[in-house]
Amino acid sequence: MTKLTICPNCGEKNLHWDNEKKWSCNACSFVLYHNVASAVAVLVKCGDEILLTKRNQNPAIGKLDLPGGFVDPKESAETTCKRELWEELKIDINTSKLVYITSLPNTYIYKDILYNTLDMFYMYEVDEKPNFCIEKSEIISTVWIDSNDINIDEIAFDSQKYFFETFYTN
Ligand SMILES: [Zn+2]
Repeated sequence: MTKLTICPNCGEKNLHWDNEKKWSCNACSFVLYHNVASAVAVLVKCGDEILLTKRNQNPAIGKLDLPGGFVDPKESAETTCKRELWEELKIDINTSKLVYITSLPNTYIYKDILYNTLDMFYMYEVDEKPNFCIEKSEIISTVWIDSNDINIDEIAFDSQKYFFETFYTN
């Protein structure tokens, strides 16, 4: 974050990162907030099994992830769940069946920029495993894993590791 030093407003090399959430320019009044980004993670659950995806992009390429992603502007978290499950897997969910569980902070580094996120976890229970089609640019493969057999070391993100260790029980 400290690599950004030139103010986009006045052009002076006076941009200061506060090591938390904003840049400000010492030469003019320019301020740019880098606020916490909202994100969702969905536990698609069938019996004792949960659907996990293997990431096909960085950060954490090859690691296991829950379906989900960043909330778009003007979008509800539930709408994000529906959009992301459709974009990633072509699973069309009924948002009224989403059950909110908890939220956890996470960090996400993308192209050398660190994003602080707040990940909202939802449960989506299904009676039978849905047919789906993988978005191959984002996902290498999917796996249904018994929730008792999840290896925390294979999970991509700290928020999800903490979630499986602490909050998630059958
Ligand atoms: Zn400036």
